[in-house]
Amino acid sequence: MRDLRLLSKKKEEDIIIVDINGLKIGSNSIVVIAGPCSIESIDQALEIAKAVKSLGATIFRGGAFKPRTSPYSFQGLGVEGLKILSRVRDETGLPVVTEVMDTRDINIVLKYSDILQVGARNMQNFPLLKEIGKTKAPVILKRGFMSTIEEWLLAAEYIALGGNDQIILCERGIRTFERATRNTLDLSCIPIVKHLCRLPVITDPSHATGIRELVKPMTLASIAAGADGVMVEVHNDPDKALSDGFQSLTFSGFKDLMDGIVKISKAIGKGITGCSG
Ligand code: PEP
Ligand code: MN
Repeated sequence: MRDLRLLSKKKEEDIIIVDINGLKIGSNSIVVIAGPCSIESIDQALEIAKAVKSLGATIFRGGAFKPRTSPYSFQGLGVEGLKILSRVRDETGLPVVTEVMDTRDINIVLKYSDILQVGARNMQNFPLLKEIGKTKAPVILKRGFMSTIEEWLLAAEYIALGGNDQIILCERGIRTFERATRNTLDLSCIPIVKHLCRLPVITDPSHATGIRELVKPMTLASIAAGADGVMVEVHNDPDKALSDGFQSLTFSGFKDLMDGIVKISKAIGKGITGCSG
């Protein structure tokens, strides 16, 4: 890929490890990021964060600025949601990640969050990528649902070109003719990206499938295919979630997922970030 100048992999050991306050992503260890689609209240966020932490998650996710298809759907709590996230971080010690949709919000999101997320719909928002490139903040760059691998990697190159190489690529499903799932998880992108690019890759089986029951098998398949981690949606009461309840795991579903992650990681000789043994 000719224009992947900063991020292309020339040697196998030539990898970028993303460092989140000492927590490393892209080394020989699987990172588990979990939390609700949207931050709804302090009680909801804290309850979920404490549960996923106790079950083995090492990063908490939750949307405050939500990119919704319909303008009438819940749009997120905005800055109030960011404040809740930072309270969750203070009370649990978990680093937090949340989406930034607008260049004007980068500073405020960084004030309250450890990691920025660029959502699928903004993967080619070049002004946003350039501004994030000027920060030193770790960023999860989701693959656009209609983007090729090349377009995705060049979007990452925009961020790197600004001076920020702390980028985690996240495959979250692409749009195909198949309607049985919300999107189609492109598992083959994992070894391809790992071959071409120095960055860590995670998957988001929640948005990729849109179906709670498919999150575990697709998580395990992602790890088996070489992903450095996963990001999954978990809710204390999925039926009442303000967004994406049907794809959110319950706490017992998340526990079962973690059991599977432990087994598959061990089988391929990887550890789990934040867990000893
Ligand atoms: C999300 O992670 O909450 C989200 C909106 O994801 P995506 O951008 O992949 O749709
Ligand atoms: Mn969601």
